[in-house]
Amino acid sequence: MSRDINSKFWDEKLETQPREELEKKQLEDLKEIVKFAYDNAPYYKRSFDEAGVKPEDIKTLKDLEKFPFINKKTQRDTQGVGSFLGELAAVPEEDVVFISTSSGSTGVPTMSPFTKKDFDEFQDTESRWFWQVGMRPNDRYVHALNFSLYVGGPDVIGAQNLGALCIWGGTLPSERLLFILKTYQPTIIWTSPSYAWQLGEKALKAGIDPKKDLNIKKIIVAGELGGSIDATRKAIEDLWGAEVYDFYGLSDIFGACAAHCEYHDGLHIAENHILVETVDIHTGEVLEPGQTGELVFTTLRKHARPLIRFKTGDIGRIDTTKCKCGRTHGRIHILGRKDDMFIVSAVNVFPSDIEAVIREHKGITGEYLIRIFEKDFTSKYAVEIEKNADNPKDDETIAAEVSAALKARIGVKPARVVVHPDGGLNTRSEHKSKRVIDERNIDYSI
Ligand SMILES: [Zn+2]
Repeated sequence: MSRDINSKFWDEKLETQPREELEKKQLEDLKEIVKFAYDNAPYYKRSFDEAGVKPEDIKTLKDLEKFPFINKKTQRDTQGVGSFLGELAAVPEEDVVFISTSSGSTGVPTMSPFTKKDFDEFQDTESRWFWQVGMRPNDRYVHALNFSLYVGGPDVIGAQNLGALCIWGGTLPSERLLFILKTYQPTIIWTSPSYAWQLGEKALKAGIDPKKDLNIKKIIVAGELGGSIDATRKAIEDLWGAEVYDFYGLSDIFGACAAHCEYHDGLHIAENHILVETVDIHTGEVLEPGQTGELVFTTLRKHARPLIRFKTGDIGRIDTTKCKCGRTHGRIHILGRKDDMFIVSAVNVFPSDIEAVIREHKGITGEYLIRIFEKDFTSKYAVEIEKNADNPKDDETIAAEVSAALKARIGVKPARVVVHPDGGLNTRSEHKSKRVIDERNIDYSI
């Protein structure tokens, strides 16, 4: 590989492109993909016609606002209709080389098809993120993500293309994974934040000190918000003696669409592939960059199934100012899933805010469970935590302290804080942890 390993950029020209140039190219690609979608995907033809818009209406990036939104439901309703790939697909099946499918945890699984070119560009983007966090050809990398159907599985090819030595770990039982970390001494691992935490704890219990006995220098996390919550990231970093980088992916687009740089101040998003809009969560009105709302993505270069104005369901904001690292591609800050947000006394509460408080608090394990329930026709929340075995305080005192910390951070205090002994909560899992239980049975959707 001829790439200079001392360069901090995978593709310097692209990553540091002046925004004016970047946006000019975005407009070119947007015009092309909207026309391609209209000409080839039956759904877009129909929905654009119904909305009275034509591809030629796109003269500036802002003109995209005139076009209708799509969401997960659009994908579900159109897949399999008319053809195997459905009405959002814009290429014949023979041009498709790969599909990933979502877990289906919130409904019928949706598939995401890639042409050969889509897939190659996906992997080049993954190489870019790996390079951005400091991976180089002399690194040993363990990809500890699910390989079955999941779009994050193939990301390992991006690391291989970069030249790193790759170990396809998948979802091995933790004993096996720890054996690999100890025996092969890899330098970088990617897993979920909750699993990174639990694996570190399991290592300690097995007599392995992650800081001394292992060689992990960087941990990539994705799939949950933890990597972007400072307190959680610091806790994992302290446990491992490694630096934690957050990645953000969408099964509908790429395994990772955005990634931390060394400044950990938002995640750089591949704006050459994704046009980001932020819209009001209630009205859909387009907001200015920097304002918080639902993130809406338009894929600029994926031809198998272009996504035009896809409502991601994630609440966040984009910062388009130049980062200290020199990159010009915007940085997204995600607050949480729209579906996870709940409203207590007119305050928007995200589970990630509660997590930040719990992880910062001394004398408790950092494990937690949130229950959302309804009382007197209004939503309330309760938090369950675990105290450390060596914490001398009584449960009542701990509960009062945590309750006050939550009130200070979020603005509304929990209806109750339940304190369990260490290990009393069943939240330690090998995969994504279920930490929010919604016991309401009213229609509270927003
Ligand atoms: Zn940066």
